[in-house]
Amino acid sequence: MPHESRNPLTRRDPNAPLVLDTRALGRQPGSSREEHLSVPAPENFGVEMVGVPEGAAIELDLRLEAVLEGVLVTGTATVPLQGECSRCLDPIASTFEADFQELFVYGDTRSGGNADDEELRLEGDLIDLEPVLRDAVVLALPLSPLCREDCPGLCPDCGVRLADAEPGHRHAAADPRWAALQDLAGDLAPAPPGRGDGSSGPRGSSDRREGKQEG
Ligand SMILES: [Zn+2]
Ligand SMILES: [Zn+2]
Repeated sequence: MPHESRNPLTRRDPNAPLVLDTRALGRQPGSSREEHLSVPAPENFGVEMVGVPEGAAIELDLRLEAVLEGVLVTGTATVPLQGECSRCLDPIASTFEADFQELFVYGDTRSGGNADDEELRLEGDLIDLEPVLRDAVVLALPLSPLCREDCPGLCPDCGVRLADAEPGHRHAAADPRWAALQDLAGDLAPAPPGRGDGSSGPRGSSDRREGKQEG
């Protein structure tokens, strides 16, 4: 999955669920407000084997605080996760909580020469939380999720879930001598009986004689 730019050139859509309006802070350093939001998860919000289903509710507890150069956002995101155990392929469903804190710099303010590509900026009075959430949640997800810490996985020989199999589930070691004997046994097995119709010898010789030529 390509990593999205933290400063997309596209204009922020004020109606996008993860775009917040900070106008109420009035750009007054020290003013702050707390918000609780429930927003639908954007698409592709996860890694290969586990992620937040698109549209599932992301619960956000946010504190927006105006500081001199911008708006400081501190929050906790609680997201539902769905995925597959990387060992036994069982479905996984759990909840994940991530804390984050990011400073969004006013777009029309010079940031003291420290500006870099990673800096998040307000666009007008809007901040886009999506890249912050991606960093806080998606980058923290395990690439090899497990249904449980000690998941024994699948039997490499028969594929049965070892958690369901009897204790000590194993198969006879693949000893090459055994394999040879098994081949031999296969060869010695009685051949399927022939059809008992009593016929022996080739059939199909024609009884019809060539007509004698009369003349
Ligand atoms: Zn598992
Ligand atoms: Zn097995």
